[in-house]
Amino acid sequence: MSNKYIPTIGIETHVQLATKSKLFCSCSNDAREAAPNTLVCPVCMGFPGTLPVLNHQAIRLALRAGLALNGEIAGETQFDRKNYFYPDLPKGYQITQMDHPIVGKGSVEFPLNGSTIKVGITRAHLEEDAGKLTHPPGADYSLVDLNRTGTPLLEIVSEPEMHTAAEAKAYAQEVHSLMRYAGVSDADLYHGNMRFDVNVSVALEGDRGTRTETKNLNSFKAVERTVEYEVKRQSELLEKGEKIAQETRGWDEAKGKTFSQRSKEEAHDYRYFPEPDLPPVVVTGEMLAEAKRDLPMMPNEIRSSLSKAGIGIRDQETLVGDPQAAILLLRISKESPQYTEFAVNWLLGDRIRLQDETGKDLGHAGVHEGSISYVASMVSDGRLSSTNAKALLESLWNEGIGMSENDKAKWRGNLAANISSKVEEQGLLQVSDSGALEEIAAQVIKDNHKIVGDYRAGNERALQALVGQVMKASKGQANPAMVGDILKQKLEK
Ligand code: ZN
Ligand code: MN
Repeated sequence: MSNKYIPTIGIETHVQLATKSKLFCSCSNDAREAAPNTLVCPVCMGFPGTLPVLNHQAIRLALRAGLALNGEIAGETQFDRKNYFYPDLPKGYQITQMDHPIVGKGSVEFPLNGSTIKVGITRAHLEEDAGKLTHPPGADYSLVDLNRTGTPLLEIVSEPEMHTAAEAKAYAQEVHSLMRYAGVSDADLYHGNMRFDVNVSVALEGDRGTRTETKNLNSFKAVERTVEYEVKRQSELLEKGEKIAQETRGWDEAKGKTFSQRSKEEAHDYRYFPEPDLPPVVVTGEMLAEAKRDLPMMPNEIRSSLSKAGIGIRDQETLVGDPQAAILLLRISKESPQYTEFAVNWLLGDRIRLQDETGKDLGHAGVHEGSISYVASMVSDGRLSSTNAKALLESLWNEGIGMSENDKAKWRGNLAANISSKVEEQGLLQVSDSGALEEIAAQVIKDNHKIVGDYRAGNERALQALVGQVMKASKGQANPAMVGDILKQKLEK
């Protein structure tokens, strides 16, 4: 297939806001474990005569999201009715925002293959979710669950200015990170907290294509594969001289294909009009200041700080996905830059294993920037082997899990003494006393005729076997670099 067709991609992202209750009633917003139709009330079931009451927490979260998207925040925002009939929408209309969205133009910037991509945001607006329909196989009816009806969503609309599947996927990942960092959403893709609608068209340079919209994708991989599939499908049609139908499509994960759902001929006229039951919301300077204050360090700030600390691009991306570790590392690199490398290795190695094994994260376990730096200092002055450093951090990790915050603070206040007694108690101190090491080395040479013979016959690797024997004899406490030197000296005599 020739690549003379240029793809144009835009993405609409629905983000479920992490409020306790729904957008316009006090029903719970956590439908994950609930039986169908148990989180409902007359408001979200659309009974006549009920009135919506706006959940102000949704406004606070939308403001934070808007700042994370570098968006222009509206001074005044207004809700509208979008009228259509569908069995999962009991009111017969969705409350959304048309003319006065809470967030206007913004942008998302992220690294991709060594360069920086900037994608414009057209707008982001608040709206309520609809219910969920299931169609039991073979049945002549459908089931409706209204638990999700009224769930607050922020719909983020990108400009159609992406051109590759890789860009589309990276954009989706970045929006996901931004929403998670801003604490706006649990952003749990498995539970549908974020869904992507992907618009794709292809055209010859200078031409405009006809776009299709593939709806409700719930993984980054599906976004990438949908774009790849649509670009290929549309290019092949154009190549055969056929027309692209402007339509809504779905994604079949098992087949790896998009399929037609409904064509534009059936497009609705939504008859939008301002929601008469909700007054406009004025966004005050105070509300904006609060949103700014609540916003932590964002992914791009973390990237540039990590890069200044000398962390490579791959480790940067891993750490961006792991904010706790990233923040900890940045503290270490600021206070004790010489231990940055030790800290990166531990945080991206052993720490991940400990986290998986104990089900606790850095916030709950007993290791903090001070203890990591202190252990690193013991390695660098030869008091701890790197193996024993890991063992020590592991015991600190486990010990901290049961401690109260108060006890942890006390323990940290007396860090050096506490770590030293731990090292002594567990016999972790590295032996760098050459007299003691010489004695063990002499014994090992005496006991291992065959290996010694191999080494003398020119097998360099035999030396490592002897170092291993000395390490074993010293119960892991010998300084391996010193042992190597001592053995060499003795064997060359
Ligand atoms: Zn309700
Ligand atoms: Mn929407």
